[in-house]
Amino acid sequence: MVENRITEDAKKRLDSLFESYSIIADDTFVFICDMKYDFSRWSKNLVESFGLPSEYMYGAGDIWEGYIHEDDRQAYHEGMDAIFAGKQAGHDMQYRAKRPDGEYDICTCRGTVLKDELGIPEYFCGSIRNHSQRSQIDTLTGLRNQYGFFSDLQSYIRNKTPIRIGMAGIGKLTEINEVYGYHAGNQILQVFGRFLMDNVANRGGTYRLDGSRFAIISTVQSEEELSQSYEEIRAYFRKGINIDGLDIILELNAGILSLDEFNVDDQTVYSCLNFAYQDSKSNKHGDLVAFRTELTNESRKKIEMLHAIRASITKGFKGFYLLYQPVVDADTEKVIGAEALLRWKNDEYGVVPPDMFIPFIEADPLFPELGEWIIKTALDDARKIQTYLPDLKINVNLSYAQLERSDFADVVWDTIEKADYDPKNMCLEITERCRLLDMDLLRNVIVTLRAGGVRFALDDFGTGYSSIGLIKDLPFDTIKIDRSFVQHIEQDEKEKRLLNKFTEMAGIFGADVCVEGIETSGMRDIIRTYGVHSFQGYFYSKPLPIDEFIDKVKSGADCLAKPI
Ligand code: C2E
Ligand code: CA
Ligand code: CA
Repeated sequence: MVENRITEDAKKRLDSLFESYSIIADDTFVFICDMKYDFSRWSKNLVESFGLPSEYMYGAGDIWEGYIHEDDRQAYHEGMDAIFAGKQAGHDMQYRAKRPDGEYDICTCRGTVLKDELGIPEYFCGSIRNHSQRSQIDTLTGLRNQYGFFSDLQSYIRNKTPIRIGMAGIGKLTEINEVYGYHAGNQILQVFGRFLMDNVANRGGTYRLDGSRFAIISTVQSEEELSQSYEEIRAYFRKGINIDGLDIILELNAGILSLDEFNVDDQTVYSCLNFAYQDSKSNKHGDLVAFRTELTNESRKKIEMLHAIRASITKGFKGFYLLYQPVVDADTEKVIGAEALLRWKNDEYGVVPPDMFIPFIEADPLFPELGEWIIKTALDDARKIQTYLPDLKINVNLSYAQLERSDFADVVWDTIEKADYDPKNMCLEITERCRLLDMDLLRNVIVTLRAGGVRFALDDFGTGYSSIGLIKDLPFDTIKIDRSFVQHIEQDEKEKRLLNKFTEMAGIFGADVCVEGIETSGMRDIIRTYGVHSFQGYFYSKPLPIDEFIDKVKSGADCLAKPI
């Protein structure tokens, strides 16, 4: 018989039983129900990951039933009825349970009934193992891994606990592995993780995120304290650590972020932190980079904006749209193509240019979805323009995060097929940031897609230090020269000579040259003497909404040669 309210004593007993049951593996949760009161305590982690009302619940079985997939519900219900009716001494079943994001996780639930000295069922206790949830422990270092990191971060955000988060990584770990062997590399990771834990995160958590990157979350230390700790750690590892009798010097990189506002999600926070970390690695020789501008207000706004942008992706790409900038033939000045340029707009932030958000979100797991949307939208729009200009080529910008996906080429083919599009009229632009990718993988993608007719352009040629390496290693149809190289060409001799070299170089590799940023007729007149193939720039047109692009094409018969 279920009585009304649990007594203090009974609750204490339940708690002490719960504590002793709670020594568990990290992807397994426990529950204990005092059957007399039908009052239960469930693992906090389980309560949080499924969004249950509370750790303590009356009628937990019924509440949980509401989370179970409808196809599995009846079996669960019958099992629970049998237990509470004393007909069954336990259960062992699998079912799907719904998470707050609407996805289902497969869980195994094992429970047994404990009887009192009179043989009356007293407690129903057991464990729930979530098979979809991966382990939160990194086996090499024993630290919590990235799943643990995200789970903790989510709970800090949910509980509105102000935190400082640091991301620190060991530079050149790949080389260290190659030179000293994996065993040494592994020991370094263990030593580093241990050191972080002992020296920084004694009042927070230490995590190994992936490869050589670690994170710490602190609820008590200030940015200054963490920054000082980082300098100490850096100095310590720079002196060299002894591994198997060898002195190995380590260089570190680090980013930090303060979270005092909670109108954000964990992925956005992670992207911002990662951005600071990458900045430290690529531009600051490992100096600690804080994700903030001087005004904390501004950084908060930025994080919130990125959050809103992320949310737009999940809401059917609301607010995203593409503008099209004409590409004209350098001799005839007729429109031969259009470059699709992404924008995002919402009531609060207005129109946000791509430079303001793409670099921050391209490492986000959602980004490839947006990339797919861009390709699809650009092809559909290009079809519309082709009604008036049948040979128009559409250029679409890619991020390295899209190319990294093993199914990228398939996704492009699928989109081309669905849009019933001629692949020869599509050109994918990549920047030299792609050198971050595995070169064999990148070459494979380019070669596969080019074999089907798709063209490739190397964007912003000359701005990165490995542009020449890239055109040597990968087959490009077009090299796009960044506007920074031609901005002063009317006055600057050096720019003329540089352009000459660039066009020669493109010629060696059989690529066309497109020059960006043509702003005046003077620039056009000079640049076209270098035998470049096409132009883009405000002199011809700023990026336009699709309707305006079509109107212009229509009114100018087949070209936009008239500068605007
Ligand atoms: P980008 O690919 O080099 O694009 C050219 C940029 O130069 C565009 O800026 C364009 O509006 C601007 N531009 C064109 N002509 C002139 C000119 O005569 N003078 C000046 N001052 N600027 C000119 P926008 O649209 O702000 O895009 C900035 C960057 O954002 C792009 O540089 C590209 O790297 C990135 N981006 C834009 N759309 C996408 C996209 O769909 N996907 C990805 N991954 N990146 C994108
Ligand atoms: Ca581009
Ligand atoms: Ca460019």
